[in-house]
Amino acid sequence: MKYYSTNKKAPWATLEEAVVKGLAADKGLYMPEVIKPLPSSFFEEIEKMSFQEIACRVADAFFGEDVPAETLKQIVYDTLSFDAPVVQVKDNVYALELFHGPTLAFKDVGGRFMARLLGYFIRKEGKNQVNVLVATSGDTGSAVANGFLGVEGIHVYVLYPKGKVSEIQEKQFTTLGQNITAIEVDGTFDDCQALVKNAFMDKELNEHMQLTSANSINVARFLPQAFYYFYAYAQMKKIGKADNLVICVPSGNFGNITAGLFGKRMGLPVKRFIAANNRNDIFYQYLKTGEYRPRPSVSTIANAMDVGDPSNFARILDLYEGSHDAIASEISGETYTDEQIRDTVQQVYEETGYLLDPHGACGYKALAQELKNDEYGVFLETAHPAKFLQTVEGIIGHEVKIPEKLQAFMRGEKQSVPMSKEFSAFKNYLLKQ
Ligand SMILES: *Cc1c(COP(=O)(O)O)cnc(C)c1O
Repeated sequence: MKYYSTNKKAPWATLEEAVVKGLAADKGLYMPEVIKPLPSSFFEEIEKMSFQEIACRVADAFFGEDVPAETLKQIVYDTLSFDAPVVQVKDNVYALELFHGPTLAFKDVGGRFMARLLGYFIRKEGKNQVNVLVATSGDTGSAVANGFLGVEGIHVYVLYPKGKVSEIQEKQFTTLGQNITAIEVDGTFDDCQALVKNAFMDKELNEHMQLTSANSINVARFLPQAFYYFYAYAQMKKIGKADNLVICVPSGNFGNITAGLFGKRMGLPVKRFIAANNRNDIFYQYLKTGEYRPRPSVSTIANAMDVGDPSNFARILDLYEGSHDAIASEISGETYTDEQIRDTVQQVYEETGYLLDPHGACGYKALAQELKNDEYGVFLETAHPAKFLQTVEGIIGHEVKIPEKLQAFMRGEKQSVPMSKEFSAFKNYLLKQ
């Protein structure tokens, strides 16, 4: 399969090039040349298949031309070593729980899949060690570090701002050891990002070691997110509730929902999608006005969605050939303030006993608001509420049980390399590795 850039000014790439590069040379996002539809026989028996079996069929449509079937199957099974159950919350509204992976958030799937696919290309080419640099303000670092943990031939350096991530977040990437090194930068998240960018541009450093990024726009992180949507449909079909299915996605960079739109192109019978925003409602405004106006993000309690210029918007535009009408006919939008998010978490908890996290709360509310009587709805619960402990406990007024997986991180011992924000210091450190 060939991949083209959404900016159409870069050469076409192979899957391997697209995965190693991440972003195209013209700063566009890579798109597969074709999105292959899956046969109707697949959808007829999908409810009898496991998450892994479904994902293998979807992965084959994307990557089957470039990765041998046995290898791809292995990558899928290694990635999906946990479930993503659909749970009824209220009436026709169901949650697809994407928080049963190692870091209790949906980004685990993309992180794990990318690590294994990159690992395969490294072995195949007999490449020397590849070094992944990732700057994080909290959550991306944990998903990437845990995804790449133990993958041979890859070393990951996670750069994070000292004193500016929560203890739970910090523990998720500083306690791992093995091929993961946490670098604690005496500066801000922007300083961390600047160090990473400078490293990619430094000639001497790039001659010394092979560097790459595990950015969320990478096709190997982005495409596997389509697995969820097929599995959600399968579970709803199994209970006889897949007619007029509406899927609602709490969205920030819009990678997750775009993977769902790819699923629909492949024949997945989803009637329509809803993109739920927090106050960073750039996409909502685009739907209303037809104009895309990025603006600086504002902080909210659903902070993984605090994005002022969603990178995957370029992929949505490309998918619908720039037509606002076509986009608005398949996707609607909603936007919520922190106060509305808090009220939703509290109300749903009191009425049903189901505890939403702040991101899932946006998804629930948008779905509950828009769903018609003859429709069934699934929203993506993108993270476990215990990841936002203080916020959630503050809302419901009592303690939240911390899952064992999270407690295990808390018990681990933090190990980090202290670093100044000067590039020369970071460069010298890397040159010695
Ligand atoms: C990353 C993230 C989102 C937003 O996903 P996008 O693909 O960026 O739209 C939503 N919720 C949580 C918990 C996340 O970590």
